[in-house]
Formats: sequence, C-alpha cells, structure tokens
Amino acid sequence: MDYSHSLDEAGEYAQLSLALMDDQRITPHPNNFTVWYNYFSGAHPELKRTLDVLLNSSLALSEARNEQIYRKFCASPYDAVPLHIMAGKMEVELGAILAVLEKAGHGTAAYEKTLEATSGALDRAEHLDLDALRPLVSRLLAETRSMVEQSQQLERQLTESANRIGQLTEELESARRDAMTDALTGLANRKLFDSLLRQSVLDSIESREPLALLFVDVDHFKRFNDTYGHAVGDQVLRLLARMLQRNIRGQDSACRFGGEEFAVILPQTDLDNAVKVAEAIRKQVAGKSIVQRKSGDRLGQITVSIGVAVLALGEPLRQFVERADQALYLAKRLGRNRVVSEAELERRDVAVVP
Ligand code: GH3
Ligand code: MG
Ligand code: MG
Repeated sequence: MDYSHSLDEAGEYAQLSLALMDDQRITPHPNNFTVWYNYFSGAHPELKRTLDVLLNSSLALSEARNEQIYRKFCASPYDAVPLHIMAGKMEVELGAILAVLEKAGHGTAAYEKTLEATSGALDRAEHLDLDALRPLVSRLLAETRSMVEQSQQLERQLTESANRIGQLTEELESARRDAMTDALTGLANRKLFDSLLRQSVLDSIESREPLALLFVDVDHFKRFNDTYGHAVGDQVLRLLARMLQRNIRGQDSACRFGGEEFAVILPQTDLDNAVKVAEAIRKQVAGKSIVQRKSGDRLGQITVSIGVAVLALGEPLRQFVERADQALYLAKRLGRNRVVSEAELERRDVAVVP
C-alpha cells in the first residue's frame, strides 16, 4: 500500500477515520483504523468502492463487517496462511533433533566409559593373559556393535528430520509464492506489484535508465460480465493475462492491479517504446475473437484502454502511478480501445496533483 502522504494529509485522514469510527460505534483498534484510513486516503480503490456501497445501504457497519473488510482488503496474505501451524511443526522437528542428539550424547558417554574401563583393566594387567583379555574384548565388541547400531538409528532419525524440515521449507516457499500471486490469472498480485514498482523506481534512479508504467483496463467489462456471466469474464481475464505476458520481456512485470485492471512495469523503457508495447497489447486484444470454450459460440471482441507514464526525475512514486492512471482515464474519455500517454495529458493540460 502506498502511504506516502504528507503529514497534514495523513493527519486529516486519521481524524476523519477516528470521527467516523466514533460515529458508527466502531472500536478504533489498529485493524479497524487501517480500513478507514485506506478509505479516506483513497489508497485502496476497491475497498473504497465496497465501503461506499455499504455506507449508502441500510446495512449497519458492524464490528464484524469491519473485520471482514479488513481481512479481504488489508490483511497481509500471510495472515491467511496458518503460519502458526508451520511454526509448530518446525518446533516438533527441532525437539526431535534435540532428543536424538541427547540420546547420541548418552550413547557415546556410555561407550567412552566402557573404553576407559577396558583400557584401565589393560593397564592394571601385570602380564598379557589371553584368557583374561577375552571377556574384555568380547564386551568391547558387543558395545562397539551396539554403538554402530545406535549411530545408524540416529542417522536415520536425523535424515528423516532433515527431510521433514525440507518439506516444511517447501511448504513455506509455496505459501510465500501464493501470497504474492493472483489466484485467477497467476500474475503478480497487487501486493507484489507495490514492492516490484518500489524496487523498479529505486533501480531506475540508481541506473539512470528510464522506467515506464502501463495501466491496462478492460473496456465495458461490466457489460461483458452481465451478458455472458462471471465465469466467462474470468476466462477473459486469464486470456488477457496471457496476452500481457506474451508482449513483455524478462525484466518486465505484468500484474493484476485489481478487478479488470492490470499494470505492467517496464524497466529500461522510454515513453516511445512503452507506447509501442502498449499498442501491441491493445491491437492483439482487439484482434482476438472470444470463443466460448464449451459451446464454441463466438462472443465477439473485447478491447482495452491503456495509460502510459514514465518516471520523472525525483517525483514521488504516487505521482508516477497517478499519471499512468490519469492517462488511462483519458483513454476511456476519448472513446476507449486506445493508448494514451502522459504526453497527451500535458498537451491537454491535465494537471497531476503531486
Ligand atoms: P470501463 O470501460 O469504464 O472500464 O467500464 P467497465 O464496465 O469495465 O468498468 P466498471 O469499473 O464499471 O466495472 C468493472 C467490472 O469488472 C465490474 C465487474 O463486473 C468486472 N470484474 C471485476 N473483477 C472481476 C473478476 O475478477 N472477474 C470477473 N468476471 N469480472 C470482474
Ligand atoms: Mg473496465
Ligand atoms: Mg476498472
């Protein structure tokens, strides 16, 4: 989430949040506060839309509903992963390893004692009496065998533990990946987008290479969904995700920004080249006829509008994102199925408030 608000702005959002929570009798704990701060700052458009619908309805904004909204829009995806269960499993494994090591300690201590006793007996023997030595040697042999057996067993136990820990590590890695991936399209999700963009901005400043950003939004998608159903709509979003990926290079990132809106981060790309990439995407989408898999029915075309911006020297990240969004908005206003770059915003004197 982008919280690069000024002190005054942040103070105002905080006050508005506290006043609303007071008015609606909502406890101002951190989770609830996060929801309303995001609402008033507009940092999370989807959350804002949902809350606007709720505020305009007769539904009460109960604590439980507030919590639901927090979980849906604000909670870290990691919260959904039963991390405490994994941590518990890890603890059990570590306990098992410690027990094995302790047992190994006891085993070697006993073995050492036998060795000491044997060597003491040998020292004390005044002459080499083979008959006297025999029981000592056979005891030594028995103890050594038992020691070998014990170490083999310990080794097996340690290997098993190592395997289980390896499995847990994989589970954690896959949970981490899931937390960053949009489940429908497999693209980077909004959370990952935020961190990728932040990193790309830093890289661009450091390398002095240009950085471009595309915002891609499906045109009249509500109408499409209403006509053909949400499931077909979902398939179209998957198709669009594939098209985006096909048009970008390795260092670029296509992300699902939310709903039917996507973002593409293009490092080392200037405005002209970013517009070319955007045009290629727009053309490919418009040129594709959508066919319903089950029935084979042709559902016509979908189109996208794309806004393009490049990072300006020293500007805050929010302003960069805002400019790409404004360009997208202008593309919609100019009739959709088109690419609009920030140069067009300038020509039309559309101000982007820092
Ligand atoms: P515009 O050209 O102005 O962008 O119009 P629009 O209808 O695309 O935009 P609007 O914001 O009014 O509606 C977006 C619609 O996108 C609402 C919803 O039906 C659809 N949508 C959002 N997320 C999903 C999703 O995950 N799956 C499906 N199938 N539809 C979605
Ligand atoms: Mg749309
Ligand atoms: Mg949209």
